[in-house]
Amino acid sequence: MPRASNPSLKKLASAPTNSPEAPPKPPEKPSPMAQASVAESAKASGGALGPDEKTFAARLVHWQKSKGRHDFPWSTPDPYKVWISEIMLQQTQAATVLPYFQRFMDALPDLKSLMNAPEDDVLALWSGLGYYSRARNIWKSGQLIKSQMGGAFPASAAQITELPGVGRSTANAIAAFCFGEATPIMDGNAQRGFCRLWGISTPVDSSAGKNELWGLAERLMPETDTAAYTQAVMDFGATLCKPKNPDCPLCPFQAECAAKARGVVNQLPAKGKAKKAKPSRQERWLCLFWGDKALLKKNEAESGVWRGLLIFPGFEAARLAGAPEPAAHDGRSMVIEHEFSHYSLQASVDAMDWSPASADEALELAEALEARWEPVENLARLPLPSPVTKALQKLAPRALAETLARDLSEAGESSAGSQAKKKKAIGSGRAGKQKDGAAKKPGRNNAAE
Ligand code: SF4
Repeated sequence: MPRASNPSLKKLASAPTNSPEAPPKPPEKPSPMAQASVAESAKASGGALGPDEKTFAARLVHWQKSKGRHDFPWSTPDPYKVWISEIMLQQTQAATVLPYFQRFMDALPDLKSLMNAPEDDVLALWSGLGYYSRARNIWKSGQLIKSQMGGAFPASAAQITELPGVGRSTANAIAAFCFGEATPIMDGNAQRGFCRLWGISTPVDSSAGKNELWGLAERLMPETDTAAYTQAVMDFGATLCKPKNPDCPLCPFQAECAAKARGVVNQLPAKGKAKKAKPSRQERWLCLFWGDKALLKKNEAESGVWRGLLIFPGFEAARLAGAPEPAAHDGRSMVIEHEFSHYSLQASVDAMDWSPASADEALELAEALEARWEPVENLARLPLPSPVTKALQKLAPRALAETLARDLSEAGESSAGSQAKKKKAIGSGRAGKQKDGAAKKPGRNNAAE
């Protein structure tokens, strides 16, 4: 996984440390009547009912100013940058996203460059970040903006939702950040924080729960300072009211938090549907090397997370196409386990070095498998799923493994690469070098859309 090499990025990547200090005073004093009402209700419910909705936004923004996250490279009113970051941050932590975002922006710095980029370039820039449908939707959105929206990024939440892969919460976030629209978000961070603060126990995956939360979010949304408030909601859930071990002693709302008062912090947000056990899929792949080249094929499946990426040929298909039998493989094999959202993959990979009788024989095999021989020195610039990259690194012959490790390491060190490198890469129809293996964890924006 690429790491942020820039010291300021590293600083950003580690979430801010919250130091204990007195909670900020609310800018408005609740009326004595309101205070009495809250106190009565809190007493009846065994603690607190949640913060006053009217002063919540101002208090949260106040907290964010001193304790939130600032200076992300996507902290800008540029809708293109905000949009790309919002999509990357779905199901992915900010620290993981940072180097990918930098690399993406170096290669495709604006909407125009995205609209003119081939899909393969966008996929290559995404390589290692996972959830590749996000990259495909970004590319499709670029084409849609180019052909149907006059080449300009849509300027309202309603229009932004027309882009593929953009739901209500993401569109609202972009509109709040870039256009000052008072459109609330309801991502995983917002869900968690709101459910705990106001003690909402309706399952968040039910229609009733969604309606309740969106209703609350609408009431809380301020008319002004929409960008600061939206970032504050995200930061509150990502850095303070975390899924596990929230930092309650540092929370500016701890005295009013309903979940804390009732001792149900770890039970909220509630989910109604039990998680189904995921089916597992077994596969067997052949990782064949011919000199300094590896045999890979583009995954042309009409659907699926790895559509459009380069993968190994299936073992059985390769055997039927006349590939050498790896019974006498070099003892190089491994098992890959990878979790997709809908299934678990277990793939055994057998590797071998092949010496065909002629170059024609090697090319015929590639043709029969609709595959291609890719020089190892190119691999770091191609759209490869992270398990395939890992297998190549582990199973390549020693000399090639060193080349591969060096290329991937350089890709990681430069994160995004220099502007010159990037232009050269895109100009030749390839994206900048990349590195795989990004962690997929709830990010700031695993939107409940
Ligand atoms: S007191 Fe704890 S559980 Fe309640 S909102 Fe604050 S951080 Fe979350």
